[in-house]
Amino acid sequence: MADDGTWTGADRPTPRPSGAPDEEPDGLFGIEEIRTGREVRRPQGPLFRDSPRARRMLSVREIHAEPGAAASPRGRRILADFPDAEVVFTDSHWRIPHLHGNQGNAERWVRIKSTVLVLGEKKTLTVRPNGRSADWIAPGAANGCAMACAYCYVPRRKGYANPVTVFTNVDRIIARLARHVTAQGPKREPNQCDPSAWVYDIGENNDCSVDALICDNTAELVDAFTRWPTAKASFATKFVNPDLLLLDPRGRTRVRFSVMPPDDSRLLDIRTSPVEERIAAAGDFLDAGYEVHFNLSPVVIRPGWEEAWAELLRRMDDVLPPRVKEQAAAEVIMLTHNADLHEVNMAWHPRAEDAIWRPDLQQPKRSENGSWNVRYRNDVKAAGVETVRALVDRHAPWLTIRYAF
Ligand code: SF4
Repeated sequence: MADDGTWTGADRPTPRPSGAPDEEPDGLFGIEEIRTGREVRRPQGPLFRDSPRARRMLSVREIHAEPGAAASPRGRRILADFPDAEVVFTDSHWRIPHLHGNQGNAERWVRIKSTVLVLGEKKTLTVRPNGRSADWIAPGAANGCAMACAYCYVPRRKGYANPVTVFTNVDRIIARLARHVTAQGPKREPNQCDPSAWVYDIGENNDCSVDALICDNTAELVDAFTRWPTAKASFATKFVNPDLLLLDPRGRTRVRFSVMPPDDSRLLDIRTSPVEERIAAAGDFLDAGYEVHFNLSPVVIRPGWEEAWAELLRRMDDVLPPRVKEQAAAEVIMLTHNADLHEVNMAWHPRAEDAIWRPDLQQPKRSENGSWNVRYRNDVKAAGVETVRALVDRHAPWLTIRYAF
């Protein structure tokens, strides 16, 4: 390591072969709880994450790393996988002034997301109750995203540019989850999250499919949940990563493909997989052992939105195989937006704001961190939810709506 905190060629870890297991770290807190004596089944052979398409999503040239994260086995593997990236050390993954909280970066936002990676260690391992999409929110194994949806709430906390931060101590996260799952015991009452399993959202502030382009955090979480018969992992995604098909989730991970009318998605879901691709992947994910649900989200009210959603639901009804329909359920989430994010978007994607910044239909609400969120007025939202329910009843009656708000 050079005096200025960057890696020199001699210090640099060597690239690992695809699928090689992590070296076990010494003295890692809680590791005994998650040892099962069997290997995590990692993807083998040619991987999507090494493909040109994956590199277009994530072509890392700059890595900001906490020293402990960089020195950990996972950190070293990640650094070895991006040998051309400049490594800059940072005291805290939360405080990188030229990345976070800097509105001047708005025009560079998308480029930062695809070329910058942050490595940190998760310090707070809190499992939070949820009760809507999942029973619990798991401590995240990553924070931030390489995609750039115009309505994304993730930057609200982290700052305007929010490239992926990977936490290198997923072992501690899994150990925390193991204790929590054990403490819950079996689920005695069915609820909207699941009839029999405690559901843990493992991707609240990240997209686990994109994270799987970087390291094995997603694979290890998927594997961990196969060992807990009373629990299930769940994550929403807008990215189809075929490497996830090589894992062995055994029905204990729910993938929720987010879908919206393709015209809305092309305008708002920047850098994501096309909606058609997400729908087409559902059968493959089910066959690989995932439970496959859908997020009908966000629902954006704009001229012609009802017909656009009807068309999407008819399309899903046409192309999804019966085995997917039999087990599918959905969440319906009306758009929420944010005043600060609106200002940022105006600097790089003002056309999106024509659709999602609608003061004539929206009402402000002060959030916990003091910024102003906006959502559809109560009457507009209630009518919107009813419309979506009616459209599902009519065009995709097999799709159970777990909740709508
Ligand atoms: S995929 Fe999800 S986390 Fe990523 S930018 Fe879009 S909304 Fe945000």
